Amino acid sequence: MADTALMSIPGQVDPVPAPREITPRADGRVDLMGLPRPRIAELLAEAGLDAKQARLRAKQVFHWLYHRGVTDFEAMTDIAKTMRPWLAERFVIGRPEVVEAQHSTDGTRKWLLRTADGHDFETVFIPDADRGTLCVSSQVGCTLNCRFCHTGTMRLVRNLTPGEIVGQVMLARDALGEWPKGRMDMPEEETAAEYSADGRLLTNIVMMGMGEPLYNFDNVRDALKLVMDGDGLALSKRRITLSTSGVVPMMARCGEEIGVNLAVSLHAVSKEVRDEIVPLNRKYGIEELLEACAAYPGASNARRITFEYVMLRDKNDSDEDARELVRLLKQFRLPAKVNLIPFNPWPGAPYECSTPERVRRFSDIVFEAGISAPVRTPRGRDIDAACGQLRTAAEKKSRAERDRESTESA
Ligand code: SAH
Ligand code: SF4
Repeated sequence: MADTALMSIPGQVDPVPAPREITPRADGRVDLMGLPRPRIAELLAEAGLDAKQARLRAKQVFHWLYHRGVTDFEAMTDIAKTMRPWLAERFVIGRPEVVEAQHSTDGTRKWLLRTADGHDFETVFIPDADRGTLCVSSQVGCTLNCRFCHTGTMRLVRNLTPGEIVGQVMLARDALGEWPKGRMDMPEEETAAEYSADGRLLTNIVMMGMGEPLYNFDNVRDALKLVMDGDGLALSKRRITLSTSGVVPMMARCGEEIGVNLAVSLHAVSKEVRDEIVPLNRKYGIEELLEACAAYPGASNARRITFEYVMLRDKNDSDEDARELVRLLKQFRLPAKVNLIPFNPWPGAPYECSTPERVRRFSDIVFEAGISAPVRTPRGRDIDAACGQLRTAAEKKSRAERDRESTESA
């Protein structure tokens, strides 16, 4: 595919285009979404509060913002009535703009969202019997061009800000109606149950939407800190998984500074095949990647690393591939589980999904070697919400337009 030939593999760590300043709002107010407590305090001090007041108010605003999901300063009942309009004049608490909300026949929900500067990205919610997982995007598009991934064919790429990342979780909680009830100024009304993940629909987060999270490390870390903060969204790091295609130099920091579960998009066991389907492999090879996995802080038999493996017909799905996978995982003594993902097709994709018999056989070989290897059921295919299908409509249109233009000029 031409896209792959044109690709330049990003340099040492993080040369992704266009991190940006927060887009200023036309009304001059500052959006607090995505900001940490100390930054909120700074802004309040800049607006005129003395340092002690600013710290106290920042703590209160932070709690209402991230723990209660409140977007209106008037609802912040422990803040003086006169103070609330003062805040509302200077600040807002935003949400990503929803362009479209879709509901799959299997219960999966997808939101097409738009940034203030007009870029589209997506978030997917996947309900299961025992959990509900939100699949969060870290970038608009992706620089990495894995050949089986639709997101990788997107031209536009920019890092999402912490506010845009945590905003996806906030929006899902809004839509699912899952903010804790009770009033902060009457804490005795609250019961523990209202604060626990039990009984909630949204229980887990995976950084598996659009983009490569380790190429947007700082913003992903800052957003996930808000998600994990006990006074913020208060989700345990054990319920959060970050998936990387193998940005080796950032993996240790991911474990140390974020501490979430790791998933690695391995997808192939030979240099030849992985170079082809995950071009980043030309930069960080399989051995280097598996060494980084073996050294991942916090990995243990109780917290295993997930190896994702997309099943591509006649490409990476033979018995030998399965046996080599087992050998590699054992050689590097990895506390591992394998997640077999049937390839989700998209228009023009250069691969097909392995047959169900092949997938089962592959899974059996890995299971028989003592490594868990469930097959992931594709979810939300009818609304293009399944793994690797995310690619925003706006971008599709611009590409179609470009194609038409190039045909016309030819
Ligand atoms: N960029 C990160 C996270 C996002 S992709 C990464 O690559 O890990 C989430 C998962 O979906 C990855 O394992 C990715 O390889 C897989 N995937 C991408 N395209 C797919 C497709 N068409 N069918 C099935 N899985 C796909
Ligand atoms: Fe990017 Fe992940 Fe898709 Fe590869 S699989 S192109 S790293 S989003």
